[in-house]
Amino acid sequence: MISVVGSLNLDLVAGVPHHPVPGETVLGGDIAEHPGGKGANQAVAAARLGGRVGFVGRVGDDEAGRAMTEAVRVQGVDTRHLAVTPGVPTGRAMIAVSPEGENTIIVSPGANSRLSEADCESAADQLRNAGVTVLQQEVPDEANHAAARLAGGTVLYNPAPAVAGAVPPPQVDILVPNRTELAALAGCEVPRTVEEVTAAARRLRGAAAVVVTLGGDGALVLEGSAHRHVPAFPVRPVDTTAAGDCFCGALAVALDEGRTLEQAVLWAAAAAALSTTRAGAQSSLARRGEVAQFLEQHGAGR
Ligand code: ADP
Repeated sequence: MISVVGSLNLDLVAGVPHHPVPGETVLGGDIAEHPGGKGANQAVAAARLGGRVGFVGRVGDDEAGRAMTEAVRVQGVDTRHLAVTPGVPTGRAMIAVSPEGENTIIVSPGANSRLSEADCESAADQLRNAGVTVLQQEVPDEANHAAARLAGGTVLYNPAPAVAGAVPPPQVDILVPNRTELAALAGCEVPRTVEEVTAAARRLRGAAAVVVTLGGDGALVLEGSAHRHVPAFPVRPVDTTAAGDCFCGALAVALDEGRTLEQAVLWAAAAAALSTTRAGAQSSLARRGEVAQFLEQHGAGR
């Protein structure tokens, strides 16, 4: 099984004619509410793709918390280690989208910021038995470090969102940053070319493998001294929100099923490419059958 330790947010999305400057009020469009948060997105991605998934996280004792819990539960995610924090609101992301499609996002972590070492200890059985444990950076370091310590299987760490100076737990087996997150970890400029990405990823110490996601340029896999570029599948993207989350969830499922890292990256790239062809975050996430069909269409078999 797969254990995801991480965040759940209620995403509040409104269109704006332009982004406000300090002191300015702008009138936006109607608010749309969607389930989100990197932890929840990755858990739902893994569940949709056929993984047996348990979640470790926190919501507030409010309507949003109940709705976010239900959103992951109906996808088949085990929520027994999803705790309720009295007196603290559920995490929310306030997202303004300009007509050019540019986002500004304010995340209020709320209950996510209360996830603790003790919470992970309460979920020790789940973490110990998981074939893959998936972590991101929307919950406190303390929780991530405890979860990595308790994890019995492969530890996959998505250092997102980028936090300068963040130190992944020493037990991490596979780091999965995008270019910006890689720059934050390696302490360098955002690398552009595959050669620059390879050089930056080589500076990371600790994890046995690094998989750098490169958007429409695919992914770069570094394992020991070897590296390989996996090109992106050719699709017409509509909305790349949660492509990285889909990729991480899919990678966890494939690794939990015993595929090699290279096979797993190819499968994850297919699932993530599919997710970019649809709008939204959790609503865009691919299902297992679709990935198999997509791979066949692209001559990559199962
Ligand atoms: P993030 O959303 O975390 O920034 P990326 O943008 O790197 O992550 O996307 C994650 C993965 O999704 C990529 O490695 C790639 O496999 C797939 N992907 C993203 N954008 C595209 C695209 N335009 N075409 C095909 N695949 C894509």
